[in-house]
Amino acid sequence: MCEKAGFDYIEIRIDMLKEYLQENSLQTLKDFFSTHNLKPHALNAIYLDSDMFTENETEKCKQIVKDFIFCCNVATRIGSEHIIVVPPMNREDKREFTQAKTKILEDCTRILKKLSEIALEYNIKICFELVGAPWCSVRTTEFAKKIVDTVNLKNVGYVFDSYNMFLHNRLNNFEVLTTIPVEQIFAVHINDAEKLENEQYTQQHRCFCGKGILNLDNYLSTLAEIGYNGMVSIELFRPEYWEKTAEWVINTAYQTTKESMQKYI
Ligand code: ZN
Repeated sequence: MCEKAGFDYIEIRIDMLKEYLQENSLQTLKDFFSTHNLKPHALNAIYLDSDMFTENETEKCKQIVKDFIFCCNVATRIGSEHIIVVPPMNREDKREFTQAKTKILEDCTRILKKLSEIALEYNIKICFELVGAPWCSVRTTEFAKKIVDTVNLKNVGYVFDSYNMFLHNRLNNFEVLTTIPVEQIFAVHINDAEKLENEQYTQQHRCFCGKGILNLDNYLSTLAEIGYNGMVSIELFRPEYWEKTAEWVINTAYQTTKESMQKYI
């Protein structure tokens, strides 16, 4: 359906990949991509835990590393070169993330360096994705840059997401992206945000491009200004859309995204 709609790439959700592999083989997936124009971009996403690679490491932390290695293996087999990595967050209860910035910097740096070492063996690049919401540890481009600069490894860069940037104080001017070296941007997510009266934005308030209040022209023109010419991916987590048919969601996603991007491609 994605290929039919016109998409060149697909990002594969890791939880859905695991589900798929319960009934299908990796070879089937590899064969699919080798016989279609649609190609796999990043595997999406590995969610970090602050205790990874410390002496307090829990079973959950070990599982995240196992998942990461699993993704490296799958990515190599199917021809994908990127894994999206999301900083630690209070994902379930959405409690505000209150740890000191110095600790977050130290944790993210340690974890990304270790994952980079693993990824290097597979020729995989890590796309670090900030999430602006209060329950996340890395909320701004400035802080994400500080971490990526401290890590200072070639295979650790960024994926930026207009909606995740907006989640921090409703940011709607994306000029901060001009501080990022374009070669470190491995992927770009694009989303619009529905208009809400209160501050209760969560991931379910993402919507199709052009249907919300984000200044996507500013987002895309800033990316164009710094010379970004890589992939742009629409990433919706909106339950209302899940009630529609997959075909409708995919076709509408393609058409609305393309319309927003028209001036820049
Ligand atoms: Zn995203």
